[in-house]
Amino acid sequence: MATIFTKIAKGEIPSYKVAENDDFYAFLDINPLVQGHTLVIPKNVEDDYIFNLDGSTYEGLWDFARKVATALKAAVPCKRVGVAVLGMEVPHTHIHLVPLNSEADMDFRKEKLALKPEEFAAIAESINKEYVKIC
Ligand code: 5GP
Repeated sequence: MATIFTKIAKGEIPSYKVAENDDFYAFLDINPLVQGHTLVIPKNVEDDYIFNLDGSTYEGLWDFARKVATALKAAVPCKRVGVAVLGMEVPHTHIHLVPLNSEADMDFRKEKLALKPEEFAAIAESINKEYVKIC
């Protein structure tokens, strides 16, 4: 059965899209640690564990994540973009990109932000505008 993230990449479940190419998809985390918290996934490979990915998917995913992180940093004021790979909840490889102003911004145990749909949409659009500039 397809994972929830495959359904998101196919547009079968809605998401706030940040960036996309033929093989990879980036969208806002629905329970963000901070504004701009983004997830990056391979579209066609569901493997649950990033270190199981074939070399080309693995390298392509990180290369895409770097472009998305560059766009994210341009769109959302932050000192740097933090990276995490957890996979404790959704069994489809994904990279978390989190705009950081302090170490505490990356604490996955803290209470998540509750954003309005229009806030998610505005953030996704602003990141996408930066992504388009660098691609
Ligand atoms: P992890 O598997 O890395 O431990 O956590 C999965 C992440 O995916 C969580 O941060 C969670 O908020 C996010 N997430 C889970 N389901 C959905 C969903 O349906 N849509 C979006 N945009 N994010 C999701």
